[in-house]
Amino acid sequence: MEERMEIGGYAGKILYVNLSTPEGNIGVRTEALDQKVLRSLVGGRGYGAYLLYHLTTPAIKPFDSENPLIFGTGPLTGTPLAGSKFVTITKSPLTGGLFLDSYSGGEIAGEIKYAGYDFIVIQGKAQRPSYLKIEDDKVELGDASLLWGKSTMEAEATLKKELGSEFKILTIGPAGENLVPFSCLCTDYYHQSGRGGAGAVMGSKNLKAVAIKGTTGIPIADAKGLGDFRQYLAERFRKSQYGELRVKYGTAYTTVSVSSIGVLPTRNFQQGTFAEIDKINCFALREKIWVSDHGCLGCIAPCMNFVRARKGRIRVVGPEYETISLLGSNVGVDDIERIAEFNELCDAYGLDTISCGNVIAFAMECYERGLIDKGATEGLDLKFGNADAVAEMIGKIALRQGLGALLAEGVRKASEKIGKGSAHFAMHVKGMELPGYEPRGAFAMGLAYATATRGGCHRRAKPVEIPQDRFKYDNFGFEGNAAMVKKLQDAREPIHCGILCDALLRFCFEAEMKDVVQMYRLVVGWEDISLQEMNLLAERVYTLTRCFNVREGVRRNDDTLPPRILYDPLPDGPGKGKVIGEETFNKMLSEYYHLRGWNPITGVPTEETIKRLNLQSLLEDKK
Ligand code: SF4
Repeated sequence: MEERMEIGGYAGKILYVNLSTPEGNIGVRTEALDQKVLRSLVGGRGYGAYLLYHLTTPAIKPFDSENPLIFGTGPLTGTPLAGSKFVTITKSPLTGGLFLDSYSGGEIAGEIKYAGYDFIVIQGKAQRPSYLKIEDDKVELGDASLLWGKSTMEAEATLKKELGSEFKILTIGPAGENLVPFSCLCTDYYHQSGRGGAGAVMGSKNLKAVAIKGTTGIPIADAKGLGDFRQYLAERFRKSQYGELRVKYGTAYTTVSVSSIGVLPTRNFQQGTFAEIDKINCFALREKIWVSDHGCLGCIAPCMNFVRARKGRIRVVGPEYETISLLGSNVGVDDIERIAEFNELCDAYGLDTISCGNVIAFAMECYERGLIDKGATEGLDLKFGNADAVAEMIGKIALRQGLGALLAEGVRKASEKIGKGSAHFAMHVKGMELPGYEPRGAFAMGLAYATATRGGCHRRAKPVEIPQDRFKYDNFGFEGNAAMVKKLQDAREPIHCGILCDALLRFCFEAEMKDVVQMYRLVVGWEDISLQEMNLLAERVYTLTRCFNVREGVRRNDDTLPPRILYDPLPDGPGKGKVIGEETFNKMLSEYYHLRGWNPITGVPTEETIKRLNLQSLLEDKK
């Protein structure tokens, strides 16, 4: 194995594990990080995208054993800076093989580095249900036959008991085992890598869990300077008004802002306001089910909530805003305790709450419109607002039973099978179900969904939370939206390459790009890194992930929105009567391509852009 690389923030190595060789003799090798690539792509999403690009071809499908499951960290992960995250990168089964990066907190983020790796790349398929045990440079495959079928929490608890509590565990639930393409990964019981189906890719490899224990420290270029910088951030937090609200209410506080501007998905995006919002908003959560605050290890702004559900019989962390909207207003349920219960069910089965709520709402609309009947639902009265039906459908989806088997394919495929015009209200982009923001009440949100690399996703740019005095843009038109979306997307890149919690930096510390630059200086020791280099990094990484999707066949006509969003006027809220329309949407998209340097007709990055971003050598075939 290679020597450890002595550069601040990095372990210096990639661990490759091939599960396909005979058990007890899995293929294990390590490779040093490529120093030339490092400064260009940094780590996390950037370096991970580079690995995925070179480890796959369009012929490799998400559930093929050759599709790598990559767990990545960045130079800021596991350092004394609060908010460490890790990313899972793979071809997404939900979008038919497009680029997927899915982030999660949890102690395992730092542990990957402490074990001596920046990335862990898992390829192949185990012969039988297994778990991967990594203890520094000792890598073994264990038998997981008895864990198969168990919930994520049960599997984690069992492994902790067996291996010792110092091991950090990442598991899938029954949904991942059943290859549900929106199944998630779960760690520390309550942290999920939710979107895009990484759990199903892990299930396709017969891998129930990964257990990691490491004993190595992470070098820091300027430990004293970093300590001072932490103090400075803590000071910023004390002064941040929104940070305080976020700690008190968590992301559930978003219910207040989205309701006021009428972008709360309601009954499968048929409306942008929910009359019963007071029963499920952050205040209801706090008053009715809140038990205690909770947060990621070492975070000074613990933004999560422990809540009770099922009349106090269970405790769960959540529900986050996205869960409240997709498994609350979007399915017409007005009971915060039931939403917490759905949250717990999804976590236990290992399902993404966003996609799950979205696809159930779609089925409810099909049912109410008579496109599916009680024969299809096996007698279930699948009307909006029927909380018992939602709970039952979650289990059926995870276990692929009855109608659940169809919905388990995701809303795009379900609408293709049901037909009868249901594609009009199948709320997805590129196969990924839309999250909790109705774009007709904020047109830029539509552009953000259409251009997000992994499909219908809010984590690359969320214009709905941007005050109009920060950017000049037309909320119900074209002006300024493309520039804002690009800026917001680019602002996330250095954080996702780092990898730290973007919510912590943006809301609690009110940090800016220059603060992230300073972190890289102090941790890695890149004294000469500049704001300009960071901006270029952001553009480079965004275009690299676009190049991946272009290689998979994505073109301009894939960057679109569900017909309901494009053509139907919003019936309520401040955006009442507004419709995005093809003309406005296309103007926004063309302007966006222009700003990115992508071909206006195809959406493919131009040669000039590839050159400007120094991407040629990174895209060259390495074989
Ligand atoms: S702000 Fe919240 S999500 Fe981010 S690190 Fe802190 S506790 Fe975790």
